[in-house]
Amino acid sequence: MIIRKKFRFEGAHIVRNCTSRRCRENIHGHSYEVEVFLKSNHLDNGFMVMDFVLLHDVAEFIHSFDHAFTLWDKELEEVKQAIYTINVRVTEIPVSPSAEGYALLFFFVINQIISKAIHVNGEQNVQLHAVRVHETQSGYAESSMEDLAMVNFSMNEVKFNDGIKKEWKDKTWWNLIGGI
Ligand SMILES: [Zn+2]
Repeated sequence: MIIRKKFRFEGAHIVRNCTSRRCRENIHGHSYEVEVFLKSNHLDNGFMVMDFVLLHDVAEFIHSFDHAFTLWDKELEEVKQAIYTINVRVTEIPVSPSAEGYALLFFFVINQIISKAIHVNGEQNVQLHAVRVHETQSGYAESSMEDLAMVNFSMNEVKFNDGIKKEWKDKTWWNLIGGI
C-alpha cells in the first residue's frame, strides 16, 4: 500500500551550470510542491500505513526551505556573503538546488527521518517510497531508494542558518538524524 502527503514551500535559488541562462544567472523563485510517498505491507490499528500526523518532523524539515534562499555549497563566495547579508533565512546544501537536487536531498533526509520515526499505533515496515519535487506546474523530479547510490554527502553538509533554526518547534528529529 502506498500513501502520499503533499507539502509546499516558496523558495529562491540560482541553478548554476544549467542550460538556461535565466536559471543559471538570476536569483529567482518557485512555488514548490513536494510529494512524499510512503509504503508498507502492513496497516496499523487505524487501518492506515501511517497517520499523517506523525509526519510533523518531515513537515518541519521541508518548511525550513520556505521563504528561504537555498545556496549550493559550491556557490561563489561573494554571492554566499551577499545572500547571508541580505537574507534572514538561508540553507546551504551539498547539491545544486535544481528540482533533481532537491528530490535527491529530500529523499536522503526524509528517509532517515522516517527510519527514526516513533511508531505509536501499530505501524510496521513503513518505508519511504519516493519523493517528488514539482518546481513548476508542468515539471517535477522524483527520487527513490535506488538514487541513494548518487549520494556522496552527509548530514553535516546540510546546513540551516540561525534564522531558520530559531523557528524550529522541535529539534529532536534534526539531532536524531545527525544534523549539526
Ligand atoms: Zn529555478
